[in-house]
Amino acid sequence: DAYLGAIEAANPSINAYVAVTAEKARSQAAESDARFDKGEGGALEGIPLGIKDLFGTEGVHTQAGSHILDSFKPRYESTVTANLWADGAVMLGKLNMDEFAMGSSNETSYYGPVTNPWRRKDDNKALVPGGSSGGSAAAVAAHLCAGATATDTGGSIRQPAAFTGTVGIKPTYGRCSRWGVVAFASSLDQAGPITRDVRDSAILLKSMASSDPKDTTSVDMPVPDYEAAIGQSVKGMRIGIPEEYRMDGMPEEIEVLWQKGIAWMKDAGAEIVPISLPHTKYALPAYYIVAPAEASSNLARYDGVRYGLREPGGDIVEMYEKTRAAGFGPEVKRRVMIGTYVLSAGYYDAYYLRAQKVRTLIKRDFEKVFDAGVDAILTPATPSAAFGIADQDMAADPVKMYLNDIFTVTVNMAGLPGIAVPAGLDDHGLPLGLQLIGKPFEEETLFRLAHIVE
Ligand code: GLN
Repeated sequence: DAYLGAIEAANPSINAYVAVTAEKARSQAAESDARFDKGEGGALEGIPLGIKDLFGTEGVHTQAGSHILDSFKPRYESTVTANLWADGAVMLGKLNMDEFAMGSSNETSYYGPVTNPWRRKDDNKALVPGGSSGGSAAAVAAHLCAGATATDTGGSIRQPAAFTGTVGIKPTYGRCSRWGVVAFASSLDQAGPITRDVRDSAILLKSMASSDPKDTTSVDMPVPDYEAAIGQSVKGMRIGIPEEYRMDGMPEEIEVLWQKGIAWMKDAGAEIVPISLPHTKYALPAYYIVAPAEASSNLARYDGVRYGLREPGGDIVEMYEKTRAAGFGPEVKRRVMIGTYVLSAGYYDAYYLRAQKVRTLIKRDFEKVFDAGVDAILTPATPSAAFGIADQDMAADPVKMYLNDIFTVTVNMAGLPGIAVPAGLDDHGLPLGLQLIGKPFEEETLFRLAHIVE
């Protein structure tokens, strides 16, 4: 009731929730109380969570931030959310997001932008919460849920976490089942939690992760007790600092933040080693070929026949065209066009195949560093603090918006785990985040190290 009251009071100005499921929350909470009274119960008994609107929730609003999924209510529950309910969690509602998770500011949502609960102390301007999991990050930061689910294809958990002073982990590709989650770029998409601290992150990820026969890319490996890693010593661990992440024109405050992180690691007994990830500069262009290519294929299913919106047309082709023209926003259309172009005969070898080769090189860069004895990599999470809603530069130039993902996309390209953890405030009083990148399936190392930073 306290959370539902907080949502009612704050959501009109923040716009983090696109649907509040009060009735479901109360009935799940009552069942949870009954289990608790009997001395039963799971790891998340009675914990109220918000769910990114990309997760299919049975009989409940699932629009993925898009007009084309109007009124779609799946007849199934995603594996990740089913895992949460099985552990006793309670659903407060569905959270706003960029349309089909395409964006870095939550401004591509059909349901309107989300406002970051943080403001600059000097001008009090309304800021974006980051994207695409902007609703998840804002809801957690504003205490409108105890934790939230999110997804990350190129940074959509870590960048909004950094912009809102929250903790966000993208686990190793394959750790969480993608079954029942609306697909954006299937070889990059992973689910993970956004929470207020590292311990909550460990607890939620343990519950979300599972091996699932319904997702053949989910791994058949036991899920460790992540919480047990928190507080363990990091003495003697080797932390890599990639020289290629020191970008030209990077704001001074980001460099200062990075140096602070390095000092904390040293103080905790870790060893700092300079490393090289030479293909980093190709990561962003390669990502913006691979992700749209997969998206153009995944989004072909929204044609007015099976789901949501249907615009009447003279014949079926006209119906498809009218439905897709009316149902998709400009960013989604841009991605579908880029994706279709790079996959088409004559361009496939020049763009898509090349991007896949670059992806392999990026993955090898990381493998070499880890093989040489580095345990984790420390970088800034984002190239700046949160920017203004309707920022003129970004609105005029989509490529500027894509540059936000500069520190996060490599991690998805290589399938590695990455965590963003709050590391202090900038001169305007806005939160900044550091990112730790780990070896495949070594999320425990990230929780251990992130706890030093928070
Ligand atoms: N901002 C990136 C994009 O728009 C990443 C999105 C995501 O991780 N879902 O593609």
